[in-house]
Amino acid sequence: MAKPLLEFTDRGIYCSKGKFYIDPWKPVDDAVITHAHADHAYWGHKNYLAHHLSKEVLYYRLGEINLQTVEYGETVMKNGVEICLFPAGHVIGSAQIRISYKGEVWVVSGDYKTQEDGISTPFEPVPCQHFISECTFGMPVYQWKEQADIFNDINTWWCNNQQNGLLTVIAGYSLGKAQRILQNLDLNIGPVYTHGVIENTNEALRRNGVVLNPTTRITADTPKDEIRKGIIIAPPSAIGTPWMRKFGPYSFGYCSGWMALRGAKRRRAADRGFILSDHADWDGLMSAIDATGCEKVYLTHGYTASFTRYLNEIGFDAQEVHTLYGDEEYTPDSNTEDTPSKSPPKGETLNEVNDIDNKQVLPLGEDLGGVGGNI
Ligand SMILES: [Zn+2]
Ligand SMILES: [Zn+2]
Repeated sequence: MAKPLLEFTDRGIYCSKGKFYIDPWKPVDDAVITHAHADHAYWGHKNYLAHHLSKEVLYYRLGEINLQTVEYGETVMKNGVEICLFPAGHVIGSAQIRISYKGEVWVVSGDYKTQEDGISTPFEPVPCQHFISECTFGMPVYQWKEQADIFNDINTWWCNNQQNGLLTVIAGYSLGKAQRILQNLDLNIGPVYTHGVIENTNEALRRNGVVLNPTTRITADTPKDEIRKGIIIAPPSAIGTPWMRKFGPYSFGYCSGWMALRGAKRRRAADRGFILSDHADWDGLMSAIDATGCEKVYLTHGYTASFTRYLNEIGFDAQEVHTLYGDEEYTPDSNTEDTPSKSPPKGETLNEVNDIDNKQVLPLGEDLGGVGGNI
């Protein structure tokens, strides 16, 4: 039998026919990158291929790399193998990678969400025979609310804080969540201030032609009483730091899909937890997998074991694969001052998952997306 078009190796997903890798975690010659999060875009490859909206963020995070960029739907040939990028709806510039050769078609989802966020090009199902899907939130308990409802809650909370004399600080990771928050805040309430890590990513995106709402970078010279009239967007790593404490009485909100877990808000020391994720929820995963019409599905990220079992039970041909992809929320950004020293809070989520479903026991290292979380 012929070798499959894609293989899972200790460097990453490999196409031996085309001699390239997809999101490899060890240095290789040719890397196709789904998106610029640190667990997918590693430093050290000779050549990179990515969507053109990932360009400036990749340069900012990885420095001088040899990068070719393409549009969605544009085909690149490598050693006779066709590579084409399709929108993944995860963050700005994120792509699913379709690989085809002599009628054999594979799609690597990277991270994706099916819900439209208003800033990322909306997810598009891509028909294929083999689908490699993430399943960060592959449990039925994860069901996202409408984005408009979540931002109603956030804007109302901000207004109430103002009335109570509290500054508002909202946390979300620097690529994706921060811009999604920024574009959906009600700027009639006040101006938006940013932590340096967030603003560096905003600037990279603006260099790439992305139009974002106005923001002011917080520096040592920014008057604190001015900041108090607005809202601060900060990365999760800024939580509880002296940087944050110096802003005085504030209410702190945390935006994450993990906020769906009981106790997550308390452990994050957040006053408010908003369930907002850039990954597909349960229904999103099911509909995306279904829409590919695939013969075989491979699962990475998150609840791979239980999700694979479930898919096999309902008639899919599903297989769990081990990768180093993790959860960007717990993956320190490279090349930034945003370097959380803390490991992913392993164990805490295990307990929470057990709260939801006592029968569910996750393999260690998969609770928050695996070892990639601490690289
Ligand atoms: Zn990601
Ligand atoms: Zn990921």
